Amino acid sequence: MSAELHYKPIAELAALLDAKKISSVELTQAVVARTKALDGRVKAFNSYDEADALAQAAASDARRASGQARGALEGIPVGFKDVIAVTGQPLTASSRMLANFVSPYDATVTTRLKNAGAVCWGRLNLDEFAMGSSTENSAFHTTRNPWDLTCVPGGSSGGSAAALAAGEAIATLGSDTGGSIRQPAALCGVVGLKPTYGLVSRYGLIAFASSLDQIGPFTRTIEDAAIMLGAIAGHDGRDSTSFRADIPDYRTELTKRKGPWRLGIPKEYFGAGLDPEVAAAVEQAIAFYRAQGCEIKEVSLPQTEHGVGVYYIIATAECSSNLSRYDGIRYGHRAKEAKDLLDLYFQSRAEGFGAEVKRRIILGTYVLSSGYYDAYYLRAQKVRTLIRQDFLNAYREVDALLTPTAPTPAFKIGAKADPLAMYLCDIYTIGVNLAGLPGLSLPCGFSRSGLPIGLQIIGQPFKEAELLAIARTYEQAHDWKNRHPSL
Ligand code: GLN
Repeated sequence: MSAELHYKPIAELAALLDAKKISSVELTQAVVARTKALDGRVKAFNSYDEADALAQAAASDARRASGQARGALEGIPVGFKDVIAVTGQPLTASSRMLANFVSPYDATVTTRLKNAGAVCWGRLNLDEFAMGSSTENSAFHTTRNPWDLTCVPGGSSGGSAAALAAGEAIATLGSDTGGSIRQPAALCGVVGLKPTYGLVSRYGLIAFASSLDQIGPFTRTIEDAAIMLGAIAGHDGRDSTSFRADIPDYRTELTKRKGPWRLGIPKEYFGAGLDPEVAAAVEQAIAFYRAQGCEIKEVSLPQTEHGVGVYYIIATAECSSNLSRYDGIRYGHRAKEAKDLLDLYFQSRAEGFGAEVKRRIILGTYVLSSGYYDAYYLRAQKVRTLIRQDFLNAYREVDALLTPTAPTPAFKIGAKADPLAMYLCDIYTIGVNLAGLPGLSLPCGFSRSGLPIGLQIIGQPFKEAELLAIARTYEQAHDWKNRHPSL
């Protein structure tokens, strides 16, 4: 049995742990062994600390033995995107700038997972500072898609998606600013959830674009996503944009909500650029919901075409501000041979940041500069409001929206050398961040060449319970989650 432990969902493992059929040490050993066997090829991890993970697992087993088990996550190894702080572990953002940085504190999500008994497992690769859609922008290495090692896993949370698909973790955390949880989840054939902006604390997340960033889970099943969200969601005084919302028990809510729902199909999400195999898989998912008695309604989100443009103004503006703290003085990379203070700033940043990060800092500084602020940044903020309004208008008629997550399945490493081609990977995910909505991706089929395809479901603000229930209705009637890559 233990050979298969690494592919079991949290809910099933929790039952095995509760029944004392396995221990957390055994489970963690299985995940460690799997990682050691495969990660030389998948390259999902930036680092991991086997001894530390096993010590956490032993502590979990001790709690369980003394009747102090803390719930479904007790003893479950969870991997972290390398932008989420865990005390004493590296925190690199896959950047030379932070290559030697070790976190002195825990992110709020980390504290919450520790309080839930989870084992904090390794550090997962990403596009540098979460800027990208393929993990090719990592300063360290490119993560590979477990379904086809010549393809990208998506990004920026490519390590978090690939590790899960390869059985190198039981669940992982990522962050999503314009699609970085949902798009890699789609490309790697796992579930990825971006919560409503403000539901999960950003304290201890390395900031990229603060008005868009949100932490969320990657899991094998929707029930597992409900378990993870329940652990990490909730108000936090250390994040000024954290929302005071009642956190339902997402897991029990799943079994209570049965539909039928009114589901909207935004016509702008099915136009040019959508791969025919992706379109066909998503159409089949829509047909499934219709057959379940859901009302399927075409809706329009007319501002969709402006999403990518608005995002690359707002996200770059915020990143140029957020990344100004990496100056070679306080922490991070410091240039060796600087002549004076200004030279130290210039050289440290020139050496520490990669090409895509520099491109965005320059773009963001430009759109914020006096004379251009009104023409670009201010105007983008206004269009952002219209984009949100589009969604809220649609929600007068429907409960949620069904769309493709990404326009194509995973593409070959090196295939998108043009930054603009890369930016278009997020056309269906970016609007959700601009509007602050919850969205998830779940597997809905495979291409002829065996690559996973993702269905995106977009929900209403703070209605994650409903969103998860809609997703689970599909998941329960399909078998995609039991397929695994042959590695
Ligand atoms: N791919 C998008 C970008 O490059 C989104 C990244 C993200 O969500 N962190 O900015």
